[in-house]
Amino acid sequence: MANTREFPLEKTRNIGIMAHIDAGKTTLTERILYYTGKIHKIGETHDGASQMDWMAQEQERGITITSAATTAEWKNNRINIIDTPGHVDFTIEVERSLRVLDGAIAVLDAQAGVEPQTETVWRQASTYDVPRIVFVNKMDKLGADFDFSVDSIGDRLQANAHAIQMPIGAEDDFEGVIDLIEMKADLYDEDALGTEWDTVDVPEEYLAEAQKRRDALVEAVAESDDALMEKYLNGEEISKDELKAGIRRATLTNDFFPVLAGSAYKNKGVQMLMDAVVDYLPSPVDVKPYTATDPETGEEEDLVAGDDKDFAALAFKVATDPYVGRLTFIRVYTGTLESGSYVLNATKDKRERVGRLLQMHSNQQNEIPEVFSGDIAAAIGLKNTTTGDSLTAVDHPLHLESMVFPDPVIQVAVEPKTKADQDKMNNALQKLSEEDPSFRAETNPETGETLISGMGELHLDIIVDRMRREFKVDATVGAPQVAYRETITKSAQVEGRFIRQSGGKGQYGDVWIEFTPNETGKGYEFEDAIVGGVVPREYIPSVD
Ligand code: GDP
Repeated sequence: MANTREFPLEKTRNIGIMAHIDAGKTTLTERILYYTGKIHKIGETHDGASQMDWMAQEQERGITITSAATTAEWKNNRINIIDTPGHVDFTIEVERSLRVLDGAIAVLDAQAGVEPQTETVWRQASTYDVPRIVFVNKMDKLGADFDFSVDSIGDRLQANAHAIQMPIGAEDDFEGVIDLIEMKADLYDEDALGTEWDTVDVPEEYLAEAQKRRDALVEAVAESDDALMEKYLNGEEISKDELKAGIRRATLTNDFFPVLAGSAYKNKGVQMLMDAVVDYLPSPVDVKPYTATDPETGEEEDLVAGDDKDFAALAFKVATDPYVGRLTFIRVYTGTLESGSYVLNATKDKRERVGRLLQMHSNQQNEIPEVFSGDIAAAIGLKNTTTGDSLTAVDHPLHLESMVFPDPVIQVAVEPKTKADQDKMNNALQKLSEEDPSFRAETNPETGETLISGMGELHLDIIVDRMRREFKVDATVGAPQVAYRETITKSAQVEGRFIRQSGGKGQYGDVWIEFTPNETGKGYEFEDAIVGGVVPREYIPSVD
């Protein structure tokens, strides 16, 4: 097949933007889309329509829930931005995005540094070995402190993070950044909405400090990179290109996390961040191969990006578009998929026909004839595919290592306000649970009640809200039954909250949990015992 790839694999980046809520992820995403030329108006996230927040309720609540993928272009590179939600209830969405992205930008609030949700998403990213760069946002905010923020990464995340920039000023006086690699200063022109800046020699007053920071950076990179270390120890000059290459190598192996400064709101630092995405985050060929299993023989196969192989992809998100209907977002690992062709849903062992293929830009959907390995697209026409399914060539079934969906932690009863709407409600719940594997709906066999369960109150609120908006069913909601969601720590045991244990089960507070034996077989990993699900009925001690 003729390779009509517009962007070579090395010039493709699949990235996520992750943050604690309110750190500025949405604003930053919007600015990135603006500078990558796809949006032509900058709107204030919370006042106007935001590009990544699809659903009306997200705008009302000011949080990002869906995990849509948006395709952008930066200096001849294709950048697919996979949206990751910032609210704790949606960590499952974060987890599923992490499966399909190759690198991430972690956004911090310069005044707050690392926050609790940053820790959660950072840990999830570490689990999947996702290389990261850090953007210390809100440098214009009162109390902004870049050095504190950088330190908080080391202190709270135990990550080897180092600034590759030095901010010039902070708060109202945040004027620009010094690029510690190039040793040049970028000074912003506020009136030009950040589209213009002057690159000048480092001002005399900052020179000594910038040089000191550059030396510290070189040393830190050398520590993670043998080739540089040798030169460094021999006292040889390390060129800009060598330093950049060293940073790239160390970032790709998760030994180093470059940190940049900026203000998305004031349009400062966003272009430099995009350059850093291209310079330091992996392309699909830089990531370790994705493991897939032949469902018949059980043999493992490594999927390495390239077009002359059989098609294999993972469905990572199902969404409903008001105009085109059901969209299945896929990440293609190997081969090419053409619109109109048949694929095998190897998870469900069903052949499916792909109608059209779309690539989502911030303000338009482009129909594309084919999607290549390493890229992301949305397929129309896949009726049986749900999140986490493997899609492959019809004659080459493979199970791609899939995602883990934790059990829901909260359950409520729902009832349609109008009895006649019961069928409509059932239909809505069925559709919504197909889209969202961490959401479940069931009927209580004893009472006949409809029960819905999800990852938190907000999650279920949103489901009920979507029923009303998208399916026109008004429902009343019962009181939530909250299950435990806590990490059992050694201190909990010491404090006596962990009561007893036998055979891998223990009583914690008034629920029973399972925990894992440690490697010695003599003890248990309490730190690893996360109560993330509704406690199975059989573990709940009977009251009488
Ligand atoms: P998200 O929850 O991480 O998506 O954060 P948003 O992008 O919605 O931003 C949260 C709030 O912080 C909004 O009121 C933004 O206007 C504001 N904000 C975002 N970026 C900046 C920034 O660089 N500086 C300042 N001062 N405020 C910002």
